[in-house]
Amino acid sequence: MVTNTPTVDITAEEAELLISLEEDLIAYGKTDVKCPRCDGNIIVSDFGSSYTIGCENDCVKVGFRGI
Ligand SMILES: [Zn+2]
Repeated sequence: MVTNTPTVDITAEEAELLISLEEDLIAYGKTDVKCPRCDGNIIVSDFGSSYTIGCENDCVKVGFRGI
């Protein structure tokens, strides 16, 4: 579930893409899907009680609240 306002402006399509990758990223820690903007890797940044999924170069990202 998305609870944070992204710190960067992303489109609804980009948000949907990142959200769709959440399951794989949490389960496997990686995905083959690349950033739609710069072709960089999509990574998870864990902040303990919350985490973000986004481009390694910070051009797209979305925040999640942990369980
Ligand atoms: Zn990028």
